[in-house]
Amino acid sequence: MPTTKLNKTIFYFFLTFFIFFSFFPTLSPAQNRVSILPIETLRAINNEISGDRAQDYIRNIAHIKRDQASKEYHLASVWVAEQAKKFGLSDVHIETYPANDDTWYYMQKARGGWDAEFAELWITSPTEEKLTSYAEIPVSLANRSQTSSAVAPLVYVGQGTQLSDYQDLDIEGKIVFAEGDGARVAPLAVDRLGAAGVVVVNQRFAHDQPDIVSRIRIFTDTPTFVFCLSHRRGEALKARLLSGEQIIVKAEVKATIEPGVYENVIATIPGANLAAKEILLTAHLCHYKPGANDNASGSASILEIGRTLRRLIDQGKIAQPQRTIRFIWIPEMSGSIAYAATHPDVVERMVAGINFDMVGQYLNDNNSTFFLHCTPHSQPHYVNDVIANLTEFVAFHNVEPLNNVSNHFPVLSFSGSRDAFRYRIAGYTGGSDQYIFNDGLLDVPSAFFLIWPDHFYHTSGDKPEICDPTQLKRTSFLGAASSVYLTDDSPELARRLAGEVYTRAKARIAQEIKRAFDLINLSSSNDLHENHKEAVNIINQVYKRELAALATVKDYSHRDQDVDEYVNALLQQIASHKQVSSNDISVFYNVTCRGRELTPERISLNAAEQEAQTMIPRRNPKLKGPLSSNFLVDCLGDYTTLPITSMDSRITYEILNFIDGKNTILDIRNAVSAEFEPVPVAWVIEYIQLLSRAGIVQ
Ligand SMILES: [Zn+2]
Repeated sequence: MPTTKLNKTIFYFFLTFFIFFSFFPTLSPAQNRVSILPIETLRAINNEISGDRAQDYIRNIAHIKRDQASKEYHLASVWVAEQAKKFGLSDVHIETYPANDDTWYYMQKARGGWDAEFAELWITSPTEEKLTSYAEIPVSLANRSQTSSAVAPLVYVGQGTQLSDYQDLDIEGKIVFAEGDGARVAPLAVDRLGAAGVVVVNQRFAHDQPDIVSRIRIFTDTPTFVFCLSHRRGEALKARLLSGEQIIVKAEVKATIEPGVYENVIATIPGANLAAKEILLTAHLCHYKPGANDNASGSASILEIGRTLRRLIDQGKIAQPQRTIRFIWIPEMSGSIAYAATHPDVVERMVAGINFDMVGQYLNDNNSTFFLHCTPHSQPHYVNDVIANLTEFVAFHNVEPLNNVSNHFPVLSFSGSRDAFRYRIAGYTGGSDQYIFNDGLLDVPSAFFLIWPDHFYHTSGDKPEICDPTQLKRTSFLGAASSVYLTDDSPELARRLAGEVYTRAKARIAQEIKRAFDLINLSSSNDLHENHKEAVNIINQVYKRELAALATVKDYSHRDQDVDEYVNALLQQIASHKQVSSNDISVFYNVTCRGRELTPERISLNAAEQEAQTMIPRRNPKLKGPLSSNFLVDCLGDYTTLPITSMDSRITYEILNFIDGKNTILDIRNAVSAEFEPVPVAWVIEYIQLLSRAGIVQ
């Protein structure tokens, strides 16, 4: 029904009136019985998408050794590409990019590939016994071990990570047995002290999993080997050495590090409207064998999402998406940055992304939780709220309450667990490919699915059977449903989205007000005034962020101006309430001061802050993506340590992202301080000066 201009004015007047007075109390959206997507769409996805199929894909991927840029990685790429073609995905192809020590992708250094052909470790005396082999447990040979061999006595060196561990020991030409981190033992024992090689005993998860072996990567000048034994095997051997037994071992390794290629598998489901742009689904396909949960699981999930959506579209059960869905299977980080560097035009078209890494394990067995990690504060975006809504919907219907009335939408596989869906919606974390795409210049707001902890992480125990078909189904379901929402742009969904982001923004503002109150409550008399300043900053930042997140809804649909006007009205409402929240904090601060017999202080800027307020850094547009320490060393000649680099590494990551040619250094300091913890402005200035010396900032 068309609306007249007058009707519209009256409508917005009442709308404005209504939302102003309804600002508080805030409903918590955590009890999400009703989904943002129509239930018929969700039902179609739930009927089609399969955790059992995903489990099967994992088995196919996990038996291949997929170390980055290694020769065998190609087999995994080919297998994924074949499946994607079979499932009817479009534009399926494998892209390659040089991987050698002389190549850079923006600020990330490439590395050659490591290929191992053969490696065995035996006791030859007193009694012949095989200790381990690469064929049976690939991770028992450290990554970047190289062709070498030795028959020599095994010498116990304790931790083996410090020179003092080797006092009075002659290890030249011998093989050391160490309990410390193999990556630290190897350069010391082999490069410095002339040992032939190293054997270490696994310490990670050792009490729960005595028979697994952890992955190690070594960097040595001398071609050598490190073998890792399970805790059980290693401890038995250690006891023999400590009792004074002479043990001779024989190690034989055939392995090389050579220039190789990174390979990405790319596929799409084309959108109906190219102008509506794209969304990106990523999963890293690399890692040692088996690497099932990490990350055959993410790779399998996005493959199953592609199969499911393609089939439902072909059957007419869901509409063709407006935006293109782009799937990329990558070697972790390297493949993402290589793709970004070679396809700036495609990255430019990406509206948002979701990265899948370690998304399949049994929640109950690992005592773990499904995490939706949102985009960083530098990338406020509606993508978080779309996924949050769907995640809470699945949780609402897949946790059994006493009155048992809520489970109207079970998401369960045929053969998997009946675990409750334990989840958490959390702030940004790095550690996987969303780290690349969330960069301020690449500018693809990317959420991250992760299940954590995993007691088989980076070990030989990361096998297909630790993945739960039910959990794989839930992850894939969430990815598929989110993709459907993100690639539509109908006015109906745009309206729902505006309501979703608005109500969640209010909830988040309320949470941040509470955080500001807590900061004042927890203050001592010494830091009360300083904390009041930070509390006010928390409020300023949450308003800035939520306004920016809500404004992104205007990019969702270009088919209905009404939605944009509605969003504008909501934006005004949120903005107008900021003063009330700021007053809340000042009143509480004043009351606290009175209670503690302190005189309230006015907030003012110190000299450094005043200076920072006048400085506006700009990024060098040619250097996109996150910064690596290698790049700094390469530019500056040696590694510079600054106080800020000892803090949470996400702080420096976000400082770079907040450099947008508009923010002052004080704005940047305030933004990262609200996101993580208060940072001295002088440290931020110093860090940005370092970036400037390296040519990253102009
Ligand atoms: Zn991973």
